[in-house]
Amino acid sequence: MRQAIILAGGKGTRLQARLGDIPKPMVNIAGKPLLEHQILLAKQHDFSHIIITVHYQAEKIKAYFGDGKKWNLTIEYIEEQQPLGTAGAILANLNYLADNFLVMYGDTMLNVDLSQLWQTHIQQQADSTLFLHPNDHPQDSDLVETDNNDRILAFHPYPHSSDHYYPNLVNAALYIIQKNALLPWREFKNPIDFGKELFPAMLRKGLYLYGYRSTEYIKDAGTPERLDKVCTDLYSGKIQRGSLQISIPAIFLDRDGTLNHEIGYIRFSQDLNLIDNVSYAVKRFNQAELRTIVITNQPVVARGDCTEADLKQIHNKLETLLGREGAYLDAIYYCPHHPDKGFPNERSDLKIQCLCRKPEINLVQAAQKKFNVDMPNSWFIGDSTIDIQTAKNAGLRSILVRTGKNGCDDKYGVRPDFECFDLQAAADFILDKFPTLLSQARLLTTELKPGDHIALGGLARSGKSTWATLIRYALTERHIPVAIISLDGWLKNQEDRTQDGVLSRYDLPAIVEFIAKIKNISSLTELNIPSYNRLARNRNQQTEKITISPSHVVIFEGVIALLIDKLQQSTSHLFYVDCSEEVRKYNFHREYISRGLSDMEIKALYQAREKDETPVILSSKTRPDIVCINEI
Ligand SMILES: [Zn+2]
Repeated sequence: MRQAIILAGGKGTRLQARLGDIPKPMVNIAGKPLLEHQILLAKQHDFSHIIITVHYQAEKIKAYFGDGKKWNLTIEYIEEQQPLGTAGAILANLNYLADNFLVMYGDTMLNVDLSQLWQTHIQQQADSTLFLHPNDHPQDSDLVETDNNDRILAFHPYPHSSDHYYPNLVNAALYIIQKNALLPWREFKNPIDFGKELFPAMLRKGLYLYGYRSTEYIKDAGTPERLDKVCTDLYSGKIQRGSLQISIPAIFLDRDGTLNHEIGYIRFSQDLNLIDNVSYAVKRFNQAELRTIVITNQPVVARGDCTEADLKQIHNKLETLLGREGAYLDAIYYCPHHPDKGFPNERSDLKIQCLCRKPEINLVQAAQKKFNVDMPNSWFIGDSTIDIQTAKNAGLRSILVRTGKNGCDDKYGVRPDFECFDLQAAADFILDKFPTLLSQARLLTTELKPGDHIALGGLARSGKSTWATLIRYALTERHIPVAIISLDGWLKNQEDRTQDGVLSRYDLPAIVEFIAKIKNISSLTELNIPSYNRLARNRNQQTEKITISPSHVVIFEGVIALLIDKLQQSTSHLFYVDCSEEVRKYNFHREYISRGLSDMEIKALYQAREKDETPVILSSKTRPDIVCINEI
């Protein structure tokens, strides 16, 4: 039988105007006292013995809840003659308490998976487990410092010095406590508070306090503003969605080159600096109630270049910088391993072939399990083909950001689902554009059927590869398999090109041969598609492996897709992606900035393309039967 103690002795001075003549824990939220919401949650998680500590207007609370039979629970009361602080009443009544018990504060509204909290406490054999959560203003909050295994090391009251980085972790006033750990304080006579006195004293005695990190819903409703916020959250469904018991999508994020500037291996916290506007992006994910989880390979640890304590400092800085702009991460998972031996200071225990180093997916799966992630609607965002391969291995949607390695690491031959210039653009894409674009794609593809081949063309930077993926998503929902062939894979190396118009930049005979090969496929066949490295301006070593069957819808995508006669003859549908010149010009500019060109060079390139590419592609616009508009 699990036991829960609810601290309900408070008067609620700050809430007086709303309370009238009732005590704070009885404040009405959607037709029920706050305390009843808590009791129902506890009951849902098998806490059948509830003890309520009461003081101010105790009789009103007792009259409402009685002995708990109405809720099929046992409810008992500890009456405080004078307020003893949050821990005082518990210390004074230790004899009545179970070996382990849950402590809730009577002014918090919460929806936490208390069973998981309880089980973690038991597994950890902790003296106390504290529910800790990140908030959007850690710089002016009391923070809790933990080690790599979430053992609490210290409590740091606000204000914080600017040269120390702590994790973004705040005590949310929800605990599980092992009774025996409190015995040294049982004779304590003065009022004593858990957060301010008792937990720091337990740490000084060397007791094991475990920090249970979670972003589940817990808010105190102790002021009129906070009470209003809690009510709004309840009516909007945010509280119901706030527990780990509800599966919600996640944004899995790579670290280096995606969140912070890529500068080779980061070994010290001073080397970590955020890319512009990543806080904005993470904050948007937070506000959209998407779990935001970092998955990073950190072979620096295996190499001995950086200890796990150093890495913790680096991640504390990452959380601090995000927190200063109101953004937080749900979790950071890292792989410290590396398979290759031979580094002078290496740690042999970590020099292994592991299953957590991306593109392996053990870390993603660990997060999926811990955070109950809705995988089919989740995303992996990163700057390298390793990230895109990870997404593919885990069955996640993928976005390549054009920061950091810019997708040009040539480690895996894999096509991202979407490309965005940076994390800010990725957040805007996922939250603002993607849902509408996907509905449009569903409408535009109703006539497509298995075995259809499509040519999809349009001007450079108009959004063709985006649309190819949208079509794939829409058809996959109808269980139609899709293969996307990017014709850019057959771009000639820079030095082999002639100045004879857009078609001359491609290896046309090879494309024609490939089209013929696909046309004649009679069974499931594996094919290699070349890919082009935008930064090196030549072919990647890695080719993309795809499997195609006669029932696959095959999408040939590229600026020249509608200019190749052979393709037009062998496809059943022609698509053209249209885009306003203003947007396309902006995309063109950002694209070549990301490839390292100067403004002058980009301008010259744009003008050259206006001459030798744009007119011929615009003239092909009359052929397609389906036009996709790349704006909303
Ligand atoms: Zn690993």
